[in-house]
Amino acid sequence: MRSFDAVIIGAGAAGLMCGIEAAKRGRKVVVIDHARAPAEKIRISGGGRCNFTHLEAAPKHYLSQNPHFCKSALKRFGPWDFLDRVIAHHIPYHHKTEGQLFCDNSAKDIIDMLLGDLRAHGGELWLQSPVQGLDQTPQGFRLSLPDGVIETTKLVLATGGLSIPKMGATGFAYEVAQRFGHGLITPRAGLVPFTLGGQKLDYISGLSGVSLQARARIGKTMFEDGFLFTHRGLSGPAMLQISSFWTPGQTVEIDLLPGTDALAVLKERRQSTPRQHIGNVLPDLVPTRLSERILEVTIIAPETRIADLSDKRLSALTALMQPWALIPDGTEGYRTAEVTVGGVDTTQVSSQTMESQLCPGLFIIGEALDVTGWLGGYNFQWAWSSGWAAGQAL
Ligand SMILES: Cc1cc2nc3c(=O)[nH]c(=O)nc-3n(C[C@H](O)[C@H](O)[C@H](O)COP(=O)(O)OP(=O)(O)OC[C@H]3O[C@@H](n4cnc5c(N)ncnc54)[C@H](O)[C@@H]3O)c2cc1C
Repeated sequence: MRSFDAVIIGAGAAGLMCGIEAAKRGRKVVVIDHARAPAEKIRISGGGRCNFTHLEAAPKHYLSQNPHFCKSALKRFGPWDFLDRVIAHHIPYHHKTEGQLFCDNSAKDIIDMLLGDLRAHGGELWLQSPVQGLDQTPQGFRLSLPDGVIETTKLVLATGGLSIPKMGATGFAYEVAQRFGHGLITPRAGLVPFTLGGQKLDYISGLSGVSLQARARIGKTMFEDGFLFTHRGLSGPAMLQISSFWTPGQTVEIDLLPGTDALAVLKERRQSTPRQHIGNVLPDLVPTRLSERILEVTIIAPETRIADLSDKRLSALTALMQPWALIPDGTEGYRTAEVTVGGVDTTQVSSQTMESQLCPGLFIIGEALDVTGWLGGYNFQWAWSSGWAAGQAL
């Protein structure tokens, strides 16, 4: 039977970083994964270019029942530390928006860097190795794998959340953590498009592909960013961001003209160009296809002179843009969600080392924990930071 100082289950962003750090410190480490290829989510991330960090990543960019939990790891291994590695490996990168970093070429550059570092420090990687049995022993843990049984003193759960089951996501970390007494903050799909039904879906029919800049708000939480109509509902960065804060039944307020008072603009146009047709005025505010749909829904002929529209009718027009308050029917769920909100409750996990306070020797890192970043590179940063922190303690 082979024995290790540390076995890390999950060869994603967090698991690989953790394996590298432990191997660097001379530990005998293996990272195991049930999938055929490691780091599949890195491969598909950021449209294939991996938005690998955000230079301003800070605790305020993370959702958690325990908002202080992420502080220590982010501080000890932050975005600049990861960027140093990217630069040291000569990986070309660029800012998309200020601080949001992507590879110039391909996400594969990041995967190659991680796999290369793991190998260089003597860490092993075993793929297609599902865990068939797991027992606690006086020395640590014993794992049954298809190729035999292995023992380890430290065990790291790095199997991520539930999003994209097709890519190998499982609730493995949740099950094991619960078995050792940890609570679970109910997981739900985050950074996910909304779906609409009934009249709401009828309203957006024909708008699929129309995009604009918008503001989405739930209570005090607000994001202003790109917005996209899809054939089933609403997407784009602003909607993905707000989805992580949404619970079924909640109203989302959408402003399709952030920073502009649409009603005031239309009243002003009624004064200054009274003979203009509303069908020619509205496209100055929103994309043509959307303006046509708004006129259809409010039953206003495009040839109507703006002078002939009362305040009440202008208000009916702008109510579909600003604020457009709606209760989504649901989300696209884990099938397309970029992240899982919720996860292993952090209250009995050390924020310094990610070690369980209920089961010494057990560590939980990455998305499996109840720490969820905003869109923009924050989720990978949490994977790097938590993986690094655990790696120092193995
Ligand atoms: C389409 C998409 C795009 C994204 N783009 C970005 C982006 O650009 N920037 C960003 O910051 N975040 C992005 N994210 C989020 C980011 O990918 C995750 O937050 C991050 O990968 C989490 O890292 P992790 O190591 O905790 O888990 P994962 O990367 O999910 O890795 C978990 C690993 O565990 C393995 N595993 C699961 N169950 C088992 C099991 N039972 N036994 C053995 N192995 C198992 C899986 O095969 C996987 O390799 C994106 C996510 C998606 C889905």
